Amino acid sequence: MRIGVLALQGDFIEHISTLKKLGVEAIPVHKPDELKGLDGLIFPGGESTTITSLMYSSSLFKPLKELAQAGLPIMGTCAGMVLMAKKITNFNMATLALMDIEVRRNAFGRQVASFETELTMPALGDKPFPAIFIRAPLILSTSPEVEILARLDSGTIVAARQGSKLAITFHPELGSDLRLHRYFLEIVTSHQLTGGEGIQSGTKKTNREVPIPTD
Ligand code: GLN
Repeated sequence: MRIGVLALQGDFIEHISTLKKLGVEAIPVHKPDELKGLDGLIFPGGESTTITSLMYSSSLFKPLKELAQAGLPIMGTCAGMVLMAKKITNFNMATLALMDIEVRRNAFGRQVASFETELTMPALGDKPFPAIFIRAPLILSTSPEVEILARLDSGTIVAARQGSKLAITFHPELGSDLRLHRYFLEIVTSHQLTGGEGIQSGTKKTNREVPIPTD
């Protein structure tokens, strides 16, 4: 299995080393020809404005969008998931728009307001997942096609899945728990087997946030 990691800016090295721990071939992606033969892609955390600009200047925007629309499994973490949202309340650049989610960037305040918490994530089993939030975005609302994978105690949505696309507002690559990357690799495997978006569970009602933290 070959997984590409968008390596324009941000913590792509941590994702590559997590994938290697799981025995997967990890390819840093800086230019379009490095997208060949990938079974899945990870968009790392970093700065979404910078990564978006670099996606344009490196001519990656169009081929990434085409691959994603053709069904390639993609996991975006923190800034990486901002790139995937169809709607962002505080961002004025065009994103890849791959998931029916509405996102607010830097939703928990400034860098000093970063935090770590234990998340209940039934898709990963009973044991809570240690989640590191660094100047994180949040998911304000999702369409019925989107499965919510985790919320904070306040109800804020922090992880979601739509078919082969995974949006994670925190940084699984910075901890030692490999379950979220393993979960993504299972999506990749099921996509390889079915050649499509796979089977998805989850609620079919529209979800909207009530509490909206201010900057
Ligand atoms: N605040 C950043 C952004 O929206 C994301 C921070 C991160 O990836 N840790 O680009």
